[in-house]
Amino acid sequence: MSTLPAPTYADVADAAEHIAGAAHRTPVMTSRTADALTGASLFFKCENFQRMGAFKFRGAFNAISHFTESQRQAGVLTFSSGNHAQAIALSARIAGIKATIIMPEDAPAAKMEATRGYGGEVITYDRYTGNREEIAARLAQERDMTLIPPYDHPHVIAGQGTSAKELIEETGPLDYLFVCLGGGGLLAGCALAAAELSPSCTVIGVEPEAGNDAQQSLERGEIVHIEVPRTIADGAASTHVGEYNFPILKRYVDRVVTVSDDQLVQTMKFFAQRMKMVVEPTGCLAAAAVLQNILPVKGKRVGIIVSGGNVDLARLAQFLA
Ligand SMILES: *Cc1c(COP(=O)(O)O)cnc(C)c1O
Repeated sequence: MSTLPAPTYADVADAAEHIAGAAHRTPVMTSRTADALTGASLFFKCENFQRMGAFKFRGAFNAISHFTESQRQAGVLTFSSGNHAQAIALSARIAGIKATIIMPEDAPAAKMEATRGYGGEVITYDRYTGNREEIAARLAQERDMTLIPPYDHPHVIAGQGTSAKELIEETGPLDYLFVCLGGGGLLAGCALAAAELSPSCTVIGVEPEAGNDAQQSLERGEIVHIEVPRTIADGAASTHVGEYNFPILKRYVDRVVTVSDDQLVQTMKFFAQRMKMVVEPTGCLAAAAVLQNILPVKGKRVGIIVSGGNVDLARLAQFLA
């Protein structure tokens, strides 16, 4: 784990300055159909239109932009099932440093190709038998590279929080903010931003039914570890939330709800048909909780983070068929 102090809203504001000009300020979209379905005013923050196709560019770029000269010389190392890998590879290329990425051998082909395309060196492992954190720690030591994990890092959390910061700056105060979670980087950062910029906003985490470790963790008051969940939401198939993330979730997140793979498919169809957007299954989590009425939001102003849009086209066609 990093030795940096726990992130606060000041780090989110600092991240916003570091990523300005490099990250896109993504659009906030609305849909009359979605509003009519729920009786609410919904604001979709569309990170599927972020660079490399997901919010992860925010945290990765912010983390690398804080590197010292000697860290830049040795380069960055990470492990990821996909979007964080691309985010690190692209951020490293922009920063002019070397990136090594440890990925599961069954990661979606499009994500692996994109990572190599951005110039990252990819090392694969079997995610059902290998321990990526151990492999990463060993490589970091051998090569003297700085490890930037996908969610359990203050600069990553702060970077992801800029998404909710931009959203609330644009919409004004919200009653609810729905954010998907795997390891809790996006949710922790967004919760910090909401607590500062819209203090009465209720923050809801959304995770796949097959892997409700965060829900269990908040109920028990400690980080619960689960087996690798089998879900189409591959970006949220994490086994536990992070150590930096959990105290923030405990303090600022009202509750965590779950949605099924079937509800994710319904939501992908909604986005494609009604809003003309390609959204990956994980990116549908937060919207699914609202559109499938998991938590009634009638009459409320509701922010929804659409976290990413990276999905193999053949796979997308199967889902939409
Ligand atoms: C990584 C990722 C998530 C989960 O983010 P965490 O910070 O691990 O909670 C959700 N959606 C997409 C598209 C992702 O790439």
